[in-house]
Formats: sequence, C-alpha cells, structure tokens
Amino acid sequence: MARSARCYCGQSRLAFTAEPLQVIYCHCDDCRRWTGAAAAVFAAFSDEDVAGLSDMGPARSFAEGVARWNCDDCGSPLLARFDYVPDQSWVPFGVIEDTTGLAPGFHCFADRRHDWVPADGLPGSNGTGRDALNAARHG
Ligand SMILES: [Zn+2]
Ligand SMILES: [Zn+2]
Repeated sequence: MARSARCYCGQSRLAFTAEPLQVIYCHCDDCRRWTGAAAAVFAAFSDEDVAGLSDMGPARSFAEGVARWNCDDCGSPLLARFDYVPDQSWVPFGVIEDTTGLAPGFHCFADRRHDWVPADGLPGSNGTGRDALNAARHG
C-alpha cells in the first residue's frame, strides 16, 4: 500500500513508494517545537522512497546537521533529515494520511519524556538513539 502525506492547507504533498523503516517517538525540545506536539512521533522512510520533496521550498535549518521542510503556504511540518541518520527522511506522524498498521516502537530522548505520558514498555534511548535508528533498514 502506498502511503502519502499532506499539509494542513493541502498545497504540499508527499508520496511514499515503500513502507516506513520505523516509527518512533522523539521527546527532544526541537522536535516538540517543530511539530507543536507534547511528544513528537515520526515515521522514517528511506530517502529514495519519498516523492514530492523537490516541489517544496528550501529546507530550514536552525541546528547543525538538521534540515526541516515545512509547507510554504500554511507552515505545516512535513519532513526532516538528520545527518546522524543518513538516508532516512522523518515525517511527522500527524501529516501522514493513512496510518493504518503503523505505531511507534522506540523512544528517542526518553529522559525528556513528560512524566504524564504513560509508560508503554517500549525500548528507548536517553539521547538521539542513533545506533538503533541507523540499524533500521529495508530487509
Ligand atoms: Zn500547506
Ligand atoms: Zn527530536
């Protein structure tokens, strides 16, 4: 099943030609600010499985090694790339149109989790979790 994503206004769209490699929470301050969520959830797709990014404006970057794309019209966050997880594109869960069968399996920056977010027993990392994130590959 091909999944897709769209922004709030509908002007910016992404299409994915394969399933995500992984779905994770990120509790870091930057991802919370960028998404506006108390706990950000992302699906990571292989860069090569993302179509539509070239139609968007330039990435915004306010931290070294991080690039983030938003809709130029409505500002919705749509995709982020992190140099420390090469070849993966991180899409906020809330802009994905059909999330059937997708659920997070890992917590990044677990030590930053709001204490009212219920414990779910998932593995996590007190930090970026880059080793675990980089281990995800298409079988
Ligand atoms: Zn938009
Ligand atoms: Zn983060």
